[in-house]
Amino acid sequence: RAAAPVREVASVCPYCGVGCQVGFRVRDGRIEEVVGRDGPANQGRLCVKGRFGFDYLAHPDRLTTPLVRIDGAAKDPADCLDPARARAKFREATWEEAMGRAASGLLRIRDGAGPGALAGFGSAKGSNEEAYLFQKLVRTGFGTNNVDHCTRLCHASSVAALLEGIGSGAVTAPFTAVKDADLIFLIGARPTENHPVAATFLKDAVARGAMLVTADPRGSALDRCATEVLRFAPGQDVALLNAMLHVILAENLHDAAFVAGRVDGIERLRSHVAAYAPEAMEARCGVPADQIRRVARRYAASPAALTLWGMGISQSVHGTDNARALIALALVCGHVGKPGAGLHPLRGQNNVQGASDAGLIPMMLPDYHRTDDPAAHAAMEALWGVALDPRPGLTVVEILEAAGRGEIRGMFIMGENPAMSDPDLAHARAALARLDHLVVQDLFLTETAALADVVLPASAWPEKDGTVTNSNRTVQMGRAAVPLPGGARQDLSIIVDLARRLGLPWTYAHPREVFAEMAQAMPSLANITWERLARQNAVTYPSPAPDAPGREIVFADRFPTPDGRARLVPAGVSDPAEAPDADYPFMLTTGRALEHWHTGAMTRRAGVLDALEPAATVSLAPAELRRLGVAPGDRVRVTTRRGMVECASRADPALPDGMVFLPFAFREAAANLLTDPRLDPIGHIPGFKLCAARVEAA
Ligand code: SF4
Repeated sequence: RAAAPVREVASVCPYCGVGCQVGFRVRDGRIEEVVGRDGPANQGRLCVKGRFGFDYLAHPDRLTTPLVRIDGAAKDPADCLDPARARAKFREATWEEAMGRAASGLLRIRDGAGPGALAGFGSAKGSNEEAYLFQKLVRTGFGTNNVDHCTRLCHASSVAALLEGIGSGAVTAPFTAVKDADLIFLIGARPTENHPVAATFLKDAVARGAMLVTADPRGSALDRCATEVLRFAPGQDVALLNAMLHVILAENLHDAAFVAGRVDGIERLRSHVAAYAPEAMEARCGVPADQIRRVARRYAASPAALTLWGMGISQSVHGTDNARALIALALVCGHVGKPGAGLHPLRGQNNVQGASDAGLIPMMLPDYHRTDDPAAHAAMEALWGVALDPRPGLTVVEILEAAGRGEIRGMFIMGENPAMSDPDLAHARAALARLDHLVVQDLFLTETAALADVVLPASAWPEKDGTVTNSNRTVQMGRAAVPLPGGARQDLSIIVDLARRLGLPWTYAHPREVFAEMAQAMPSLANITWERLARQNAVTYPSPAPDAPGREIVFADRFPTPDGRARLVPAGVSDPAEAPDADYPFMLTTGRALEHWHTGAMTRRAGVLDALEPAATVSLAPAELRRLGVAPGDRVRVTTRRGMVECASRADPALPDGMVFLPFAFREAAANLLTDPRLDPIGHIPGFKLCAARVEAA
């Protein structure tokens, strides 16, 4: 018979926060290839993950039937590493039995130990509608604000500093604004690996004549395009940034008119950074004083500078201070609110912006209204028709700490994998195993699902309709391209089913109904409707009118603070939580590899991506490998105060001596067995980027 025709379904890439628009080319219910579409964030471009990372959908590991734990089968953290042993502790169940068990276990804890003994982790890989319903379920059905997601492990400190400084946690300009920038300041970010299509726009801007300044302890591919490369010492971000502020304010290079009209706190900042002369900071931050002075002058003199940052800034026990110093730098120079200028923390997951906007945060209701803000609290109670607890809930790491103490006893986890993504995994896995009741909704029997009581087989992104919001504040429409496999169900319908079993009278049948309710709860979505997104595919918020394009550059006239002015918040220098010493002489840093996504659940089951990077490797400077007496490819052991992993070594000339890099996608050498769980006191984000380690030949 003649081959079925190929049809192309317009959607969005499910991986990073760039939000590339894709076309899923489908034949006979299968995606044959993925092509780039002309979306505002990608203009037809895709990286290797977007292009090849889709065949996980049909991987033999895909869950297609609900699972329930066999009576008496013990939860053992070691099962996280042994899928066959983990699977043997479950039996298949009907949806009716699985949902009944899921709900009754949660109700038993809520009604016995109280709402505070429950918690939920939603997902930045789900749609906006799923994120909104998930947090509504936890707040109104569980009765607690103990709801969070991976933003806590990603940019929570950036958001805290942005809210405090300018009154908004989202970017002030898209990364595509580099087309108008005279200077691009890229710090603590590796876009060629983590936001690859955004990196291509940076390269375009440099080719046009923009000056690129990169700043990171570890070199990156973009250094080759940079005019200035600031290789500062690990953890000394504030020392470098305060030294730049010192130069700008001491030499009166700041934008005095902008500051006078729109920014408070300049004199306090000026006196604070007076002690941070580059000559006083160069030994601490490792950048020569004359280079700090030169870069500070160039940044201040630039007509328009765009500041982009990643988790090198945010994933730190002083991440909020790092971001405060960076925000202050942009504000004193007036590099906000005009073409080619702005503040842009590059978001990780494809929908971490949208999930955060939708309220998947323990201290914030939708659109970043604090749970204890009386007006916001009353408005949400009126909309939802349920009494709400005003007390902020616990964050991701705090929830697992509370589970370890037996205070959190039941959890619902949708699409997150804390048994791989939390710091100090041995403790995190033990805490998950200790829960009386764990319900996991996912595509695979992940390391977290291995410790569940009930596992609900869910929908992958190319199987669902829904919206997502990228790093640029652009809300985009995703469309189902292929059918669900076997007995898997739509995530949205699972959340609704659970809510009804918890006694909530929910009737949502389609994500468009949820989006309509979100638009009532979230002024940021004004003039953006499901129908408009279906027509236009992408709309950036804020959108001033039903058919007017969204504003890409915001805060041209005023900041969204009560008096319209921004606030400078001085940041002090502090050392990393763990400094290298005789026992642990290296500094371990962790992050992504280009080919893999987060805990590897999807990309390690995508054939091409897995073939490109099939195993964990630990990277060191070539000289360090020689000193250890190992050749690239030899196995090495990395040990910290929390744990040990062993894997092959790789030489990376971009790493400074004394630093070791381990990606966190690999179960068999899980980087987070090693990382430090201590938190930034304001953003409550763990310092994933640095801890002391020992490295030796295995
Ligand atoms: Fe997907 Fe990000 Fe790659 Fe674009 S850059 S194709 S959104 S992973």
